Amino acid sequence: LLEVHGVHKSYGTLEVLHDVDLTVQPGEVTVILGPSGSGKSTLLRVVNHLEKVDRGFVALDGDLIGYSRSGDTLRELKEKAVLAQRTQIGFVFQSFNLFPHLTVLENVVEAPVSAQGRKRSEVEVEARELLARVGLADKADARPRQLSGGQQQRVAIARALATKPRLLLFDEPTSALDPELVGEVLDVIKALAHDGTTLVVVTHEIGFAREVADTVVFMDSGRIVEQGPAAQVIDDPQHPRTKAFLDKVL
Ligand code: ATP
Ligand code: MG
Repeated sequence: LLEVHGVHKSYGTLEVLHDVDLTVQPGEVTVILGPSGSGKSTLLRVVNHLEKVDRGFVALDGDLIGYSRSGDTLRELKEKAVLAQRTQIGFVFQSFNLFPHLTVLENVVEAPVSAQGRKRSEVEVEARELLARVGLADKADARPRQLSGGQQQRVAIARALATKPRLLLFDEPTSALDPELVGEVLDVIKALAHDGTTLVVVTHEIGFAREVADTVVFMDSGRIVEQGPAAQVIDDPQHPRTKAFLDKVL
């Protein structure tokens, strides 16, 4: 489904991603672990073309993200085409990023209507179903600031699902939450995994990774140091950097 191939990314002289390869199969859950500054967020942002790559490419079902190919030359896609591609890749941020002036329902309805040109009345029906799925059917008319962090993040998940993406990316979805609210958000993500949604999740929740991930990827200094089945990477890491990291967080 997703192929990241030979991606390099630098900010000035700082190399943030070095020759990153990642393949995600449909229905698979991939968890990305790694210390602060290792390039995890940048990798997700590259997948969604929120950042350009210096070398390499990202493809979803064989379609290049952010570029079109004619012969040997790559041309960057126009903003509108990139926005259309992004509707295929849902993104949930650490800090929710809901539109504060819109109601919960309007937040969920926004992208399908504005980026996909779908009929509002039809999208609203689906949005209410999505809100029910994340346990917030009764909050449709609330504003984000009236909700707890865990509720806001569940709205953000419903919003990310509203465009019917092929892939969902999560960047530390529970890091901004009070500890007692982490579980309700992880439960929603687990339910998505159970239903066969393809997920790439950056998190420090090792228990979640062990329970839900098919593949665990460990990054350090812009490189994928180790990747494999969750139980293997977490319980029997091969690389000393992975061992040292897990010893610290477990
Ligand atoms: P964390 O766990 O703290 O979220 P991370 O693994 O997500 O870390 P990134 O946010 O991808 O790491 O950052 C990787 C490196 O790139 C860091 O050294 C960071 O300072 C740098 N970096 C990220 N974004 C930019 C930017 N827009 N301009 C310059 N440097 C950046
Ligand atoms: Mg990050």
